[in-house]
Amino acid sequence: MLRFNDIADRVLEYDSGCDLLLLQRAYVYSAKVHHGQERLSGEPYLIHPLEVAGILVDMRMDEVCVSAGLLHDTVEDTLASLEEIERLFGDEVAFLVEGLTKIAKIEFTSVRERQAENFRKMLLAMSKDIRILLIKLADRLHNMRTLKFMSDDSRVRIAQETLEIYAPLAHRLGIHWMKQELEELAFRAVNPAIADDIEERIRAKREDRDSYIEEVIGILSRELANAGVTVRIQGRLKDLNSIHAKMESQGISLDEVHDVIAFRIIIDGAKEEVYTALGIAHSIWRPVAGRFKDYVALPKPNNYQSLHTTVIGPHGERMEIQIRTEEMHRSAELGIAAHWKYKEGELRGQNTDDEKFAWLRQLLEWHQDLADPHEFLETVKVDLFPEEVFVFTPRGEVIALARGSTPVDFAFAIHSEVGAHCAGAKVNGKMVPLRSRLADGDTVEVITSPNQYPRKDWLDFVITGKARSRIRNSIRSIERARSVELGRAILEKELRKSDFTIKDLQKDGVLAKLGRRHGGDSLEDLYSSVSYGRISGAEVVRRLRGGEEPEPAPDEPPKRRLFWRPREPASTSGIRVSGQPDVMVRFGLCCSPLPGDEVIGFVTRGRGVTVHQKDCSKVFELDPDRRIDAEWELDAKVPRKITVRVRSLDRKGLLAKVTKTISSAAINIGAARITTSQDQKAIHTFDLWVTDVDSLNAVMKQIGRIKGVLGVERVRS
Ligand code: MN
Repeated sequence: MLRFNDIADRVLEYDSGCDLLLLQRAYVYSAKVHHGQERLSGEPYLIHPLEVAGILVDMRMDEVCVSAGLLHDTVEDTLASLEEIERLFGDEVAFLVEGLTKIAKIEFTSVRERQAENFRKMLLAMSKDIRILLIKLADRLHNMRTLKFMSDDSRVRIAQETLEIYAPLAHRLGIHWMKQELEELAFRAVNPAIADDIEERIRAKREDRDSYIEEVIGILSRELANAGVTVRIQGRLKDLNSIHAKMESQGISLDEVHDVIAFRIIIDGAKEEVYTALGIAHSIWRPVAGRFKDYVALPKPNNYQSLHTTVIGPHGERMEIQIRTEEMHRSAELGIAAHWKYKEGELRGQNTDDEKFAWLRQLLEWHQDLADPHEFLETVKVDLFPEEVFVFTPRGEVIALARGSTPVDFAFAIHSEVGAHCAGAKVNGKMVPLRSRLADGDTVEVITSPNQYPRKDWLDFVITGKARSRIRNSIRSIERARSVELGRAILEKELRKSDFTIKDLQKDGVLAKLGRRHGGDSLEDLYSSVSYGRISGAEVVRRLRGGEEPEPAPDEPPKRRLFWRPREPASTSGIRVSGQPDVMVRFGLCCSPLPGDEVIGFVTRGRGVTVHQKDCSKVFELDPDRRIDAEWELDAKVPRKITVRVRSLDRKGLLAKVTKTISSAAINIGAARITTSQDQKAIHTFDLWVTDVDSLNAVMKQIGRIKGVLGVERVRS
């Protein structure tokens, strides 16, 4: 069992000036409040906080963090209160314990919405002080190490969660050993039989393996020493889970002892020597094409650096080699903690980690607008756990993007302005669609145009958080600017008819009198409301004259922003304009759009928005500046009148058949007109009340099958 003195000794090794007294008091307090509690293993509960503190010491954390590790379960699981922790250990320790208490109950395997929300909460807590996450990871690691005491159900659930959330987080923070251990423990928990089997086989080949490792290390050390490179070489077993993954993906059994070994050359020398060592390894054994990765020149997003190569080894087998300097090795093992300093008290200042965790804050910032939890979770996962693709700018600079990125993601990665005006892209010299996926080694050239602005359909294919968030913001501000401009024009025109001017609107209290709901907080908000038809110009004038606003319903949420986000009742039109349900909408008589038709809106002066089918001929005549996104609400089931024309032979009984078909499809006929021509043909024109385009198409198809019917069409003028 780990003792407090071991922890204290080890902290002193890397931080001789640490506040031992704080640690000691935290230990004594934790022992006191956890007294009498037991873990599932039957051991005293105190073992858990001690082990967690021990893991934090492995990560070379400061005494505040280690103390918080000792105390991390006190508020959650004992009678201790946060006030007491703060009084006894100061606000910094209390802040960490509070953060941990808040996320203590978070589970990620619940319904997806809740999962996303929890994830967001955890990221938020973490972003305030990364040590909260480090303690959480240490907590999880010790729980994983003692997983065998849990019930089968919980074991698998916790292991899944570890694989999906915590191992990737450790990876993102660059704490390699922890990521590996978490993954291996989780693998064991989920696949105990397979894990036992692999271990059994590995044990059986132990001697062969040792002599193989000796042989390879012998050859490498000799050659490297001849070249004057000082190294230590490790031959190590791969992780169970990666051995298993390899067996699965290559369909191999574990008979080849070489398959489970990887070599690592760690150089005591300058960065450049990694390439010398690589050259030597490649001159002894032939490299396998396509397997060389230079993470020294191009570090991974978590700052991992190493050369990776695969060669054909002494027995004709594939052999993986990693090459790195001692410094890179240290950094790969310790991750973010490798860069922390203790002597100058830098860690105590809350700002030192700013740069290292800027990615975390940035991530939250990009995603705070994502209301849809699914989208939030997916996008955050892409950003947090990226599988990268490396592409080049025309000048040969390398850009690392999440796998699956498109030229638009690339453009936004270069610069927001490049992204915003991205009009086309060339990949390897050829024009490609903006939605195409980039591949490793592509050279990407973005073609910009000052007249190009982010388009809504870009959101269908971009995958990086930065691109998504910038596109969204831009669309919002363009639409906002457009609506403000129109609203102002409408209102000015209306005011000219009265004795008021825009100046009157700017007087104190006038906007409030117009009603917060319609006026909003600023004049711009009012313009915008006018252009969306939430309030008409005439109504503004009426209120200026002293008319009262009707009392808003009591349960109505207060408006905070320009577009009040809380769900208003669904619009009776069944249309959302620019995402808003409460917009005054009319439908173009020319094309009578139905739910299901692709539609587009046009802002009219003073009469809200007119909605047309996207391919209506009218659309091309109207001012493109007045276009606005419109879409059907998913559950829109409001019957709307459209016209259908049926051409047929002039036969007795045919009309009856057609009307029967229509009414048995539960569609109401508003009016019917019939004309006959000299050539024995009849034209029946029906006004029908239809709820959506699918039922219309179905009934038109049925009519078309009636004998004597020559054609059925939906009428658009
Ligand atoms: Mn715990």
